[in-house]
Amino acid sequence: MTPPEHAVPEVIVCVECGEDCYLLTPMPEDVDIAPGTSFPYRCSTCMERFDVVWEPGD
Ligand SMILES: [Zn+2]
Repeated sequence: MTPPEHAVPEVIVCVECGEDCYLLTPMPEDVDIAPGTSFPYRCSTCMERFDVVWEPGD
């Protein structure tokens, strides 16, 4: 089972410490996300916050 292409990952790798960063806001499942929308993540280990801009590839 593969996620839809517009899916935003709920967990990313922290660039500071390499641990898991979790999406702070719940993601609507059936809504297309506009390119350029940013999503906040927070690292569970170093508590660093990251804003990831959604740029779907094709
Ligand atoms: Zn971290």
